[in-house]
Amino acid sequence: MTTSATASREFATEVVRQLRSAGYVALWAGGCVRDYLMGREAQDFDVATNATPEQVRELFGKRRTLAVGQSFGVIIVLPPDKAATQVEVATFRTEGIYLDGRRPSEVVFSTPEEDAQRRDFTINGMFYDPIEDRLLDFVEGKADLDRKILRAIGDPHERMTEDKLRMLRAVRFAATLEFTLDAHTLAAVTRMAPEMIVVSAERIAQELRKMLAHRTRVRGFQLLAETRLLHVIFPEVDLADTHTIADILGGLWTNARFELATAAILHQISSPVSEPRSEAEARGTIWAMTRRLKLSSDEMTSIAWLVAHLDCWNDAEQQTDAQLKRVLAHPLSGDLRQLVRAIRTTQCLPLSPIEFVDDYAARHTPEQINPPELISGRDLIQHGLHPGPQFKSLLDTIRDAQLNGEIATREEALEQLKLIMPSSKD
Ligand code: ATP
Ligand code: MG
Repeated sequence: MTTSATASREFATEVVRQLRSAGYVALWAGGCVRDYLMGREAQDFDVATNATPEQVRELFGKRRTLAVGQSFGVIIVLPPDKAATQVEVATFRTEGIYLDGRRPSEVVFSTPEEDAQRRDFTINGMFYDPIEDRLLDFVEGKADLDRKILRAIGDPHERMTEDKLRMLRAVRFAATLEFTLDAHTLAAVTRMAPEMIVVSAERIAQELRKMLAHRTRVRGFQLLAETRLLHVIFPEVDLADTHTIADILGGLWTNARFELATAAILHQISSPVSEPRSEAEARGTIWAMTRRLKLSSDEMTSIAWLVAHLDCWNDAEQQTDAQLKRVLAHPLSGDLRQLVRAIRTTQCLPLSPIEFVDDYAARHTPEQINPPELISGRDLIQHGLHPGPQFKSLLDTIRDAQLNGEIATREEALEQLKLIMPSSKD
């Protein structure tokens, strides 16, 4: 069973109803209220209450709750089945002073009015009563939502000082919601951008994923450049290249993945035209950057593969079937085709190589591009060879012959193998 928006909303309403029946105040809070008012599916539901974490656990039972953020007053209530997502129930709170610009030094339980003040942006600071269909808006969030303005709650400079990640969240929300950044909020982000350096890579990466995987990624990128947050996140990217990068991002499909967008941003790091760097050096830079952002190893591998292959089709029309098929067999080859086309378009380079590749991919089935191997390492061992460096080169030769259509059966492969095998069996 997959989660459904309706089931999740009903469960989030049920959690409110149960807290209310037990005599507590309970409301939907934050992002889910914003999404609900905008008629969008909420990613997750947060409920705010005056019940303490202990009282919440007592009401829903230990087996149906998780106390992951208990010290911050947060209890997760698990849904009865997988149709609904879990609900985070948080006690109304006021956050103490932020000593490190990352997290509050203490948390004091409080009221909805005060709880709204600790939230980041006015549109994220509202409460909603799903039972009586009533909005509780202490921060003029509804007015900003209607006018499509992203505005910090209170003094933007102070709020960004408390938690520097809010600068990146401001950019992310403005871009993905297609809202205008309020002038004071924008000024605070621009002024304080260098200070984002204290924020953990994990939190930065989480926001970047949401921003760059979204169809509004061009706007997100432009805002990063405009506020100079870009310089903190990707110091290797030359600010002079930002127009080119924005154009390339605009050439990707709307549903392009985070890895593809990141490869687009980092593309010129490996480009031979910007600086004569060796491929290994470029790869090293990409790995260093993605590691600094603490991306997952899958993300890093994907980004490095895309960037490393940007030039591989420059001479596509002259390549053998084996050369073409080997790259096209890669799961990210569709992403690579998009990226190469976007880069060539932006740089006014001829599109003929990529058109050739697209046409080649269209004319061949997946089985033609990546047919099952005819022989394996086991066959080499049976022929008396010991595993070693020559193993790979022998198998590669056989594979190339297969991909080039020179051989098609296992028998032909074994025959070919005999011809190319070293004569001494050691
Ligand atoms: P998304 O659609 O990405 O989930 P969201 O607004 O729900 O957006 P979350 O990170 O899930 O964002 O946070 C839920 C709510 O918690 C926010 O709407 C906001 O009220 C509050 N919040 C989250 N992060 C911060 C922060 N860094 N500073 C202040 N308030 C925050
Ligand atoms: Mg959320």
